Amino acid sequence: MLTTVEPQIIGTNEDGSLKIIPRHEIEVLCAACRDPVSEQEEQTGICTSCGQPWQPAQSTAVHVTSTPMVGTARV
Ligand SMILES: [Zn+2]
Repeated sequence: MLTTVEPQIIGTNEDGSLKIIPRHEIEVLCAACRDPVSEQEEQTGICTSCGQPWQPAQSTAVHVTSTPMVGTARV
């Protein structure tokens, strides 16, 4: 299951610029076969690909944005 996490402002740097966690995606994988876990599999707890109870393993993809957030921040 793929979860997209929107950019978050987590604070301010010493120079006054904003500390931002970039937009990224977290995908929950079956630790046994590395298959992405679907919502149904999450509910049943059984991986349909390998038939094992899946253990969460996370795969995180970070989208690096080249556009700095200047003056448009909503805090
Ligand atoms: Zn599996």
